[in-house]
Amino acid sequence: MSTMINEQGKQRAATLLENTQKIVKEALGKLDYDEATYELLKEPLRFLEVRIPVRMDDGKVEIFTGYRSQHTTAVGPAKGGIRFHPDVTAEEVKALSIWMSIKCGLFDLPFGGGKGGVVCDPRHMSFPELERVARGYVRAISQIVGPSKDIPAPDVYTSPQVMSWMLDEYTTINEMDKPGFITGKPVALGGSRGRERATALGVFIALREAAKLKNKKPEDLSVIIQGFGNVGGNLAKICYDAGIKVIGISDAYGALYDPKGLEIPSLLEKRDSFGLVTNQFDDVITNADLLTRECDILVPAALENQITEKNAPLIQASILVEAANGPTTAEAEEILNKRGILIVPDVLANAGGVTVSYFEWVQNNQGYYWSAEEVEKKLEEKMVAAFVNTMTVAKERNVGTRLAAYMVGLKKHADAMKLRGWV
Ligand code: GLU
Repeated sequence: MSTMINEQGKQRAATLLENTQKIVKEALGKLDYDEATYELLKEPLRFLEVRIPVRMDDGKVEIFTGYRSQHTTAVGPAKGGIRFHPDVTAEEVKALSIWMSIKCGLFDLPFGGGKGGVVCDPRHMSFPELERVARGYVRAISQIVGPSKDIPAPDVYTSPQVMSWMLDEYTTINEMDKPGFITGKPVALGGSRGRERATALGVFIALREAAKLKNKKPEDLSVIIQGFGNVGGNLAKICYDAGIKVIGISDAYGALYDPKGLEIPSLLEKRDSFGLVTNQFDDVITNADLLTRECDILVPAALENQITEKNAPLIQASILVEAANGPTTAEAEEILNKRGILIVPDVLANAGGVTVSYFEWVQNNQGYYWSAEEVEKKLEEKMVAAFVNTMTVAKERNVGTRLAAYMVGLKKHADAMKLRGWV
């Protein structure tokens, strides 16, 4: 049974990568780049697979598989998070690193895309086991990462605490202080103020701009958020504080829905460190059910492949804001586009995280730290600029919003590769 799920997961990740490559090809074609540019950008420049032996609490050694992908480094060092999840595969990490390049290009950050992952399930590990996996992963990849080579960050199930252990391991190996090796750190270790809620705040800004395009006022909006982790939870709070009704939220095991609006602060108080809260309620619906309930804005903020050809015809929202990476399949996207549902694609909606990671790296490099207000003001400027650029290209070139975002996002990488004489 578990092998079957594994095979299905692998197949899904392979499709994800193939779809990404298709859009990359289409975007580069629309911009008149040659075949060689696509050939170099369709796969990561460098991909490392490692095996990490970890002594578990019961005394036995378990071997974990990890990956680090560096999609392109023509513009600057690679940049992107590390995911700890049982479904991590090589193809998924590759696709995620390509998306990171697009985010960095779209937000004009001086980075190429990177991504890492370890196949493990932190939900079933003790804290010391998690620490040993984090440190083991850094030892395994330490030669190819660093503040001017490749800068990791958090992703699914990796927290500021995990970043702290990773920083400590890296600086121990290198015998010098290098806070710019990793971002998403706690403020005490050189993290940026505002980084923790940056992705959610960016999603919120994108959501607000999308609502404006559809002539909707914030006080009239109802929002459903799938996921209640760092991104979903913070977004729910920001919406709630702004007077936007959050009528649905979910975690990995179920969903809560109330058309009158949910009491977000009390749900956040009840939440555990993995964003789980629905297990404390009886009146729970399924994640699948939540996605097709009535609302103005639907925000998938969990994992990939949630909106498929099966549920896309049933979605009632008029705006889809992709807070998660890759929540919509290619088939679903076609259906949503035909139905006139405005898609704010992941590479645009959730890039507030990497943008503030960039601010964190800048602060580390200069040793001078900004206030939360300064960080959030700069984030707002970047989000609005990327949003306007994407929507303008979508309109002028008459293409979908995802393709438009890829066109804007890939341009700088393609130009840098040409200038360097790589193509
Ligand atoms: N993991 C986040 C993402 O997918 C953040 C990456 C970063 O901060 O480098 O965008």
